[in-house]
Amino acid sequence: MALFPELRDLESLQKRLQRFARIEQLAELRHGENSFPLLSFSLGSQDPKAPVLGIFGGVHGVERIGSKVALAFLENLAGRVDWDESLQWQLERMRIILMPLVNPVGMHLSWRSNGNHVDLMRNAPVRADNATFLVGGQRFSTMLPWFMGSSEKMEIESQAVCDFVRREAFDSRCSILVDCHSGFGIKDRLWFPYARTQQPFPNLPEVFALKDLLKRAQPNHVYQFEPQAKNYTTHGDLWDYLYDEHRGQGRPGTMIPLTLEMGSWIWVRKNPFQVLSFMGAFNPVKPHRLKRTLRRHLPLFDFLMRAAHSTGPWLGHAPDARTALTDAAHEHWYREDSDSGSASAPPSE
Ligand SMILES: [Zn+2]
Repeated sequence: MALFPELRDLESLQKRLQRFARIEQLAELRHGENSFPLLSFSLGSQDPKAPVLGIFGGVHGVERIGSKVALAFLENLAGRVDWDESLQWQLERMRIILMPLVNPVGMHLSWRSNGNHVDLMRNAPVRADNATFLVGGQRFSTMLPWFMGSSEKMEIESQAVCDFVRREAFDSRCSILVDCHSGFGIKDRLWFPYARTQQPFPNLPEVFALKDLLKRAQPNHVYQFEPQAKNYTTHGDLWDYLYDEHRGQGRPGTMIPLTLEMGSWIWVRKNPFQVLSFMGAFNPVKPHRLKRTLRRHLPLFDFLMRAAHSTGPWLGHAPDARTALTDAAHEHWYREDSDSGSASAPPSE
């Protein structure tokens, strides 16, 4: 008997997808009397070089909507994989990997952190240039949020994410990895690295071209694409860590981690009473609003599947074109008076 709805949905999708996906229990987490599986899914090509779309959710236990959105995508795949030939065609050529519930103990307890009070998104051995005080990660006390945990050994959950990504995505020609979070703010944002520094990351031209491609494919999309560090800088970001490791190993493929930061002020503004509930501040409460949120991001995931597979317009540009894209990206995101990345809300991711 599953202890909370997201875990129940995960276990039911595990049964439904048994024939179509490689499903693994990466770890078993214990808290008190209870144990929780850490499940991963992998659908499609087993060629290590195949393009990859990765979807992750529930890193922060209070942000249930991140898990729900990842599960909605998995359910969408489960509902199509046995009949949709265009999806089957895609899956012959690429791989979709998912960890929809990275922090089940935190979600069970309604904590941001895991069961050891560690903020999993501050837990990697990465130091920021100038981390935002407290929010950027701290080792003062487990009683405060954003506790980074040990500098020697990562938590089971963060270690499992890293090992899974290394195995499933590091050899890929092109991988796009989306981690679904929610916090304060009125817009849905797509953040690209780094979290640890304001300095642009090496794939800035590619991510700028990807932003333009999204606009071309979905002119009315809702996302604000921007560097994560425009909002705040943090120690210990798992995606910074994996990105740098992948790059440091000189692998031929491109890996783009993105954070989908869903703006929960949209829900709070329309239903101010939900600020009275702690969970309500991070999640839509009304059923119709929840349904809308679950639908809202499917077109993005569909686009990213196509972009990981059809890289022509945004990857592999000649040096001159990369320089031009870099200049345009600097103009767009890093100019002094640029408002495209302005922090309009207190951080919470
Ligand atoms: Zn978060």
